Amino acid sequence: MKLSDSEGKSSSEVGVGRSNNRLKLFLWMCANNGLPTKVILVKRKVPISVTCPFCNLEAESTPHILRECPLAQIIWHLSNSKVSFQTSYPFETWLKDNCLNSNVETVSTPHNVLFIYTLWHIWLARNDSIFNNITPSPVIIAKISIASAVEFFHVANDFPSPPLGQSLSFNVKWNPPKFSWWKLNSDGACLGNPGPFAIGGIIRDHMGNWVKGFSGFVGQGTALKAELWAIVRGSNLALDLGYNFLWIETDSLLACKLLLDTTLTNLHEHWNLISSCRSTLQRFSHFKVSHTFREGKQCADLLARRSLLKHEDYSVFQTLPPFMNLYFLADLHGVTFERVTSSSNPSSLVNSTCNAISLYPARS
Ligand SMILES: [Zn+2]
Repeated sequence: MKLSDSEGKSSSEVGVGRSNNRLKLFLWMCANNGLPTKVILVKRKVPISVTCPFCNLEAESTPHILRECPLAQIIWHLSNSKVSFQTSYPFETWLKDNCLNSNVETVSTPHNVLFIYTLWHIWLARNDSIFNNITPSPVIIAKISIASAVEFFHVANDFPSPPLGQSLSFNVKWNPPKFSWWKLNSDGACLGNPGPFAIGGIIRDHMGNWVKGFSGFVGQGTALKAELWAIVRGSNLALDLGYNFLWIETDSLLACKLLLDTTLTNLHEHWNLISSCRSTLQRFSHFKVSHTFREGKQCADLLARRSLLKHEDYSVFQTLPPFMNLYFLADLHGVTFERVTSSSNPSSLVNSTCNAISLYPARS
């Protein structure tokens, strides 16, 4: 996973001006169990020990390395951050609560800024320990965390999260896949949740050219079922066409996560759809699944909504249907669409980077 390359850089390489996107991505990975900790790597069959590089006592999970490890706790203490360490407190809640706390603390810097920089520098120290064999010094890590947070807040002063109640806007566009890849954008449209639903999808090549489209009314179900159903149909269509490199993009973060979740069992209500999708994906020589926002996959959205309204039977479009001309051309020419999100949604900051992340990287 390419992300680990950037995570592995030493703290001195993290410039303040460049830090926003990297920190957003890092936070998003923390919140979604996406950091390449040893526990995660072992689950992916990487032959390493799961032991924490700091304490050599416990397995290195995300909550452990960032919150529960004795060395992490010393760093939190030294950074003067008012962080609670109750391990009964779910890690995701702990992360969210601290990210939302903007009370001014040490050296006139908000708690959340200091919190995020301390998390980040603990992670960098962990990488330095593993990849560069550098023994972590809690005093130095705490000092660097405070200095980075203060510098960022008082000098750069471009922390992207607006005050609660205000909105944050950013641009979203459809991005073509790499040369020799196809991209499937799929969507499920549901009238109510549960309710009647339809699916739609479009497959394009690296130039943005039309390959195939599909849509159809399916029946009753939940929004998640609709999204998974659309992914299954679309990936099977690409497979039937004999293509080996497929990138699937959906606006359902939950669908992405379920496809990735190796701990999922057949007790899940959508297990059949999920396992069907996984077995189809395994038949591609390379595939990846990622999340985008609705603005990044409006062609698929249009196909699904149209089938829902018209209760159309499933059909495959060999050529571009005229009703899609406008959105298709917009994507082809890289037109961006503004997405406005409310900061009352606590995860808006980290969610804004979701579309940059492949949750299910291609097999190598
Ligand atoms: Zn530890």
